[in-house]
Amino acid sequence: MSSALDLMTLDSAGIVELIEKLSWPHYRAEQLLHWIYQRRLTDITAMTDLSKADRARLAECACISSLMPDSIRNTEDGTQKFVFALEDRKSIETVVIPDAERLTVCLSTQVGCTLDCAFCLTGRMGLLRNLKAHEIVGQVLAVQRELSRLRHRRLTNVVLMGMGEPLANIEAVEEAIRRLTDTTWGIGFSPRRITLSTAGLATRLARVANLGVNLAVSLNATTDAQRSRLMPAVNRAYPLDMLMKACRTFPLKPRRRLTFEYVLLEGENDTERDAVRLAMLTKGIRCKINLIPFNEFPGSGFRRPSDHVVLRFQAVLDRHDIAAYIRKSKGREILGACGQLGTLPGSLPLQLERPATRAGFLNPVSS
Ligand code: SF4
Repeated sequence: MSSALDLMTLDSAGIVELIEKLSWPHYRAEQLLHWIYQRRLTDITAMTDLSKADRARLAECACISSLMPDSIRNTEDGTQKFVFALEDRKSIETVVIPDAERLTVCLSTQVGCTLDCAFCLTGRMGLLRNLKAHEIVGQVLAVQRELSRLRHRRLTNVVLMGMGEPLANIEAVEEAIRRLTDTTWGIGFSPRRITLSTAGLATRLARVANLGVNLAVSLNATTDAQRSRLMPAVNRAYPLDMLMKACRTFPLKPRRRLTFEYVLLEGENDTERDAVRLAMLTKGIRCKINLIPFNEFPGSGFRRPSDHVVLRFQAVLDRHDIAAYIRKSKGREILGACGQLGTLPGSLPLQLERPATRAGFLNPVSS
């Protein structure tokens, strides 16, 4: 491994410090950041607004790392799954989902996951490690580089719903979001176009509010007993009552809504009584509910409810004036809850399915 300083590992203050060490004028910091995040450059010698001598000096002591896709899998519906190898040869997955005007990238925040949701493939991997800020933002840069190479359109939305629980890696996620949203030198996404999905780390929701991004809470159950079966670790630390209190006091900006995600599992949480309880739990919160019919994977032990049951569940919520949308099957197995990604030794790769044609099935990542 090179001993050169990787500029991706520095935050903006770190870049300023480096510029000071080189005794360069301060505006150079913004120039460097601009090249890295807006121009997505990885070759220091191509920074044409630096003199040749300065480029050579910087290239002697620094480099710009990038994530390289090990594989890219395309599906007929246009969804793409990128597998990136990290420096330590662990791998993460990033998914790109096209939908009408939108092109959404779904980012991973951990290798594996801290939590153990019973219906999630990532949870079965355990936590291998947290991603660093530059590895989170690096997924966006790498995907956008690939899209530009193929002259595809630009990413429009970002969701942190891939592998991992973002709030269990909060410092790195906060720094990544700063780099994603800075409009002076960063990638420049509006926070409105970024959604962070959590399994319910209630005490950290305020930090999401400070970031100004949208919040999605993966609920999936309407009683503590049920949630402890489906999401044991998170419900032990943050029982339903505590989570719902944190959601009720979440400082929503005007014209924004909270999103609740609810994976529908046959015979577990899909009855009319479940739907009524869900309506009661969320009543009075400015929110919408994304219903995600479970996508089965080998050995999951859960089944997907029939379309009839899914529609009946939605109808109950509708009667209680709760906006509930059924996610299209497009990429649902890789967007479901906050990250049904990953493979286990000996497991089969995830199978992508054709989109549902049923009218009324809406975009999985609508805001
Ligand atoms: S659903 Fe999300 S929080 Fe739960 S185990 Fe999977 S990745 Fe982790």
